[in-house]
Amino acid sequence: MNTTKRLLLASIVIALCAGCSPNNASSTATIKAVYTVDDAKAFLQKVDTDITRLNKPAAHAAWAYATNINYDNAQVDAYLGEQLSVMWANYAVEAAKFNDVNVDADTRRKLNLLKSGLEIAPPSDPAKAERLATIGSNLAGMYGAGKYCRTESECFSLVEMSAEMAVSRDPALMLEFWEGWRKVSVPMKEIFIEQVSIANEGAKELGYANTSELWRTKYDMPAQEFPKELDRLWGQIQPFYESLHCHVRAELSDYYGEDIVPLDKPIPAHLLGNMWAQSWGNIYDIVKPQQEMNVPDVTKALAEQDYDEIKMVKQAENFFSSLGFDPLPDTFYERSMFQKPQDREVQCHASAWNVDEKDDLRIKMCIQKTGEEFNVIHHELGHNYYQRAYKDQPMLYRGSANSGFHEAIGDTIALSITPTYLQQIGLIDQIPDESNDIGMLLKVALDKIAFIPFGLLVDQWRWQVLAGDITPEQYNTLWWQLREKYQGVAAPVARSIDAFDPGAKYHVPANVSYTRYFLAHILQFQFHKALCDIAGSEEALHRCSIYGSKKAGEALNNMLEMGKSRPWQEAMTTLTGSPNMDASTIQAYFAPLKEWLDKQNEERNCGW
Ligand SMILES: [Zn+2]
Repeated sequence: MNTTKRLLLASIVIALCAGCSPNNASSTATIKAVYTVDDAKAFLQKVDTDITRLNKPAAHAAWAYATNINYDNAQVDAYLGEQLSVMWANYAVEAAKFNDVNVDADTRRKLNLLKSGLEIAPPSDPAKAERLATIGSNLAGMYGAGKYCRTESECFSLVEMSAEMAVSRDPALMLEFWEGWRKVSVPMKEIFIEQVSIANEGAKELGYANTSELWRTKYDMPAQEFPKELDRLWGQIQPFYESLHCHVRAELSDYYGEDIVPLDKPIPAHLLGNMWAQSWGNIYDIVKPQQEMNVPDVTKALAEQDYDEIKMVKQAENFFSSLGFDPLPDTFYERSMFQKPQDREVQCHASAWNVDEKDDLRIKMCIQKTGEEFNVIHHELGHNYYQRAYKDQPMLYRGSANSGFHEAIGDTIALSITPTYLQQIGLIDQIPDESNDIGMLLKVALDKIAFIPFGLLVDQWRWQVLAGDITPEQYNTLWWQLREKYQGVAAPVARSIDAFDPGAKYHVPANVSYTRYFLAHILQFQFHKALCDIAGSEEALHRCSIYGSKKAGEALNNMLEMGKSRPWQEAMTTLTGSPNMDASTIQAYFAPLKEWLDKQNEERNCGW
C-alpha cells in the first residue's frame, strides 16, 4: 500500500558527452591538464548552481504534467526533463577528470554522487537522449491515463477498480478488473524494451556495465554486495512471512472454496484485496481471529466526524507539529492536489514534492476518506518534512540517506497512529485493551509484512532486465517466477504471450527504483523502536506512539537534516546508535502475532 514517489529531480538521470568517457581524460598523453583540488571544488559549485537553476522549471513542468495530463504539458515536461538529465549526464562524465586528483573525502563523495545520481542515463547522441525522454514521458502518460473499458461506454479508472477490489468478495468481478488493468500495460512493452536499450548505452558512457549496476551502486557499499545484504534481511523475515501466508491461504480457501484457492499452491493474485496483491489489509475480515477483536475503524470514525480531505491533511500535519516541527507553509495548502479533479486526467499516484527545493512543499493525491489513506497522508508528509530538513544542504546532498530512508520516515510516523493516538485526537473514545492486540497486529502485518517480498522482487526483476540477463520474451515469465518464489502468489489465469504485467505497476513505467520500499519496511521498525526509546515509552513496541514527544522529534530531525551528506550508515547511527539494517526489530514488534499464527497453523501444511 505504500506506493509513493519522491520527485526531486525529474525521474530521469545519467550520462552524456561524446568522446569524453571517463577513460579518455588520461589519453591525451602530450598535453594532459593538471587539475587541482580547487578546480574540483569550483566545478562542483558550478554543478550545484546550474542544476539547481534548471531543476526549478523542470519541477514545475513535471508538476503541471502530473496534475494535468495533456499533449502540451507532456511536451514541456519531456523537454525540460531531458535538458536536466543531459546536463547532469554531461557533468557526471566530466567529473571523471578529477579521478586522480587527491581531493578531500567530502569532495570525493560529491563527485561520486554526481556520477551515480541519475536513474536513467541519456547517451551522448542527442537524438537518443531526446528519444529516451519522450519514452519516459509516454510511459508515464500511458499509465496515468490508463483505464479498462468493459464496453465502449463503461470504463473504469485504476482508482475505481482499486476501490472495488478492496471491498469486493466476488471472484469473477475481481478477476475481470485484474485482467482489465493489465491490458493497459501491453502496449508499453515495446517502448520499454527500447528504453532499456538506450538507457544502457548511457550507463556505459558513465563507466557502469549497465543500468542495473548503476542502480545497485548507490548504497555506500560495493554494487555486488548490495543484493546479498537484501537477502540477509529477507532471511530474517521469511519464516514470519510464511506463517502469515499459510494462515491467509487457509482462510481464503475456507471462504472461496478449495477449487479457487488450493491448499498446496500459491494464492491467486486477484483475491488479496489489492490490484497487485502487494498488501493484504483489505481482506482482514476474511482472515481475522474468530474471537471478536476490537480494532478501531478509522474509516468509520472519519466519516462520523465529518473529516474531509483537508481536515485529514491538517490532522497529519498536527502530528509533526506535536514533535516540534514547524507548520507547513500556506502555499502547501494553496498548491497541493488533494482530490481527483473532475475535468482532466491526472496521475493519482500519491507523491510529495518540494518544487523549489526550499519551501514550495506539496503533495499530490486523490485522497479517499479511509483509514488507509489517512496513513498515506502521514507517509507523504514524512517526505515533505524530510525534504525541508535537508533543504540547506548542497544540491548533491539534498536527498535520502539511502533510498529507503525517504520512504521510511512517513511510515515511521504512521506506526505511531495507535489507538492511544487516535484517542488523543478524539477519533475514538476508548483504547481497546491488550487482548485485542492480535487483531491490530494482524492488520498491520497484512499491510506491511505481506508487502516485503513484493518490495524485494520488483527490482530483482528489473536488475535482471536492465542487465540484459533475460530477453524481452522472458520478461513476463520471470516476473511470475519471482512472484511465486518470494510471495507465493500466482496469476489467476494463464498470461498471454504479449502480456507485460510488470508495466501495470506504476514504478516500472515511471522508472522509479523499488528497493526503497523494501528497505523502508525494515528501517521504519528500527526507527520506530529508536524513537520510542528516546520518547521514554514503556509500552510494548506495537502500542507505542511518539505523538507529542519533542525529544523524539529532535532526534528524528538530527538525522533528517543530514540528507545524504554522510554514508547512510552514519545517518542510521545518529538515530538508532547502530550502523546496520536489522529486521529483528520486526520480529520483536510482531512477537505476539507470530505465536498466534503458529497456533492457527499447527494442523496446516504450509508452503507452496
Ligand atoms: Zn513514499
